This record gives sequence, structure tokens and C-alpha cells, in this order.
Amino acid sequence: MIFDTNTSVYAVFGDPVSHSLSPVMHNRAFESTGYKGVYLAFGVKNIKNALISVITLGIKGASITIPHKMEVMKYLDKADDVALQIGAVNTIINIDGCLKGYNSDGLGAVKALSEKTVIKGKNIAIIGAGGAARAVGFCIMKEGGRITVINRSTEKGERLAGDLSSDFRPLNDIGKMKFDILINTTPVGMTPHTDVMPIERRYIEKGMVVMDIVYNPLKTRLLKEAKMAGCVTIDGVSMFVHQGAFQFELWTGIKAPVDVMKNAVMNAL
Ligand code: NAP
Repeated sequence: MIFDTNTSVYAVFGDPVSHSLSPVMHNRAFESTGYKGVYLAFGVKNIKNALISVITLGIKGASITIPHKMEVMKYLDKADDVALQIGAVNTIINIDGCLKGYNSDGLGAVKALSEKTVIKGKNIAIIGAGGAARAVGFCIMKEGGRITVINRSTEKGERLAGDLSSDFRPLNDIGKMKFDILINTTPVGMTPHTDVMPIERRYIEKGMVVMDIVYNPLKTRLLKEAKMAGCVTIDGVSMFVHQGAFQFELWTGIKAPVDVMKNAVMNAL
């Protein structure tokens, strides 16, 4: 693709950002739809200054990643209701110098789940109570899922459960409950510690839907064990691609080429 003065620039701001798969995913999407855009990664320590650059340079939109998802909210002109409820922004759009924030993480998780199962009325365990759990939890709650937050530290787990008006249980209690859907939102099982999983194997029951939002490796130990136990499994790439599809559609107004984006991420992995 030829870049010229009509090319729209998009970015990801994070620290670190070198491992991000967003550039490969969005650039393939721009290419395949013929949209004149380019997406670049910037290692950013000061998010306020990065947003000044967005306005100064006319960058059309950006993904915001660790550790800036909460702090960035202070410097935006507006944020949509989902982002406000979650308390974090991972997507911004620049409309004539006005910056509006969104959160596509939870929407991506709901899309990934909905491809394989119904959410409404299901008993859903969310393991973890960090930023991703918060985004996933709020969006699942909106879809009518019955959530239990399960977390290592009680304080953080109880706080998220309170915000979601759901129950909290410590990790050790997981064997005492029955769930239709189990979602790991902790980094447990991520490269290089691929031999560990967030719960013991005996708590994975046939017929459950098990989703892991970790996508490196693609097949985590949790997903491998769940598959062997006869569960439906959903990997973290599905959520990642669907949250990226939301960003693409917000920025371009064009339907996202989800399969192209997924292939780009799989090849990069
Ligand atoms: P975070 O805010 O740091 O939260 C991490 C959570 O995991 C905390 O609740 C923490 O429990 C728990 N945890 C961490 N290590 C643990 C361990 N060894 N045993 C048990 N619990 C542990 O992180 P985050 O931003 O939510 O991200 C979590 C993961 O999601 C990362 O791997 C990230 O790459 C992934 N992610 C994927 C996508 C996607 O699109 N697929 C999107 C966003 C994030 P405590 O409260 O006890 O500390």
C-alpha cells in the first residue's frame, strides 16, 4: 500500500508495547478493505503527552494498553457509558480534536463467548479481578449472565464483585460450586509459564464452556485440559480479534474483516 498525505494514522500507546499484535492485525485489516490507513506502535511512558501528540499530529485514533488504561481517562473530552462503568479506556477516537474513549475488551469477550454459547441466565465464574476481569464482567452482566468473581486476593475480588452486584468466592472455594461457563482473566498459564493453570484439573467438568483470555500461547494448559475433559473451549485470540474489530469499525465506519484479522494474529503468533 502507498502512504501519502491522505493516509490516516492510528497508533497503540503502551509500555511495554513491543509484543503487541495490534499493528499486524489493524494493518492487515486496512490493506484488505482498501482503507487508506496505517497503524503504528509507540512505547509511551507519559500518556498525557501522547494525547497531546494525537491532537497535534492529527492521529485519528489509538489503542491504549498497559499501564495507561485508567489514567488516560483524565485527559479525554468524553468517554462512552461502557468505559465509564468499567473505569478504563482501551480505545480512543479523535474527531476534529475532540478525544472520546471507549472500552472494547468486554465487548470482545462477549462476542467471543456468543459464538459458542448463550450468556443470558448462565452461571459464570470469572477468575481474576484485575482490569480485564472488570471489563469482561460488566459486559457479561449486561448480557444477563450470573457472575461469581473468584480471585486470589479477597480485597480486590470483593471490590469487583460489589461493583458487579455479584458474589465473590476465594480461589479455594471453586470446587464447592457448579458453573456453566468459566473464564480465566488472570495471566496464569501465559508464556513462559505455560505448564500452570489457574484452577486444578479436577474442577473442570464435562459440558462446561471454558474460555481463557490469555492468547500467548494460543492453547493454554487450561484450554488443553478442558478440551480433554469434554468442554467447549474459547481461546484469547477470539476476544482479542473481536475487540480489535470494534476499534476498526469505530475508526473507519467499515465492517471489520474479522477472518482476515484473525489470520493475521494467528500467523504472527
Ligand atoms: P491485572 O489487572 O494485573 O489483573 C490480574 C489478575 O490476575 C488479578 O486479579 C490477580 O489477582 C490475578 N493473578 C495474577 N497472578 C495470579 C496468580 N499467580 N494466581 C492467581 N491469580 C493471579 O491484569 P489484566 O490487565 O486484568 O490482564 C490479565 C490477563 O488478561 C493478561 O494476561 C492479559 O494479557 C490478558 N488480556 C487479554 C486480552 C485479550 O484480548 N485476549 C485483553 C486484555 C487482557 P490478585 O488480585 O490476587 O493480585
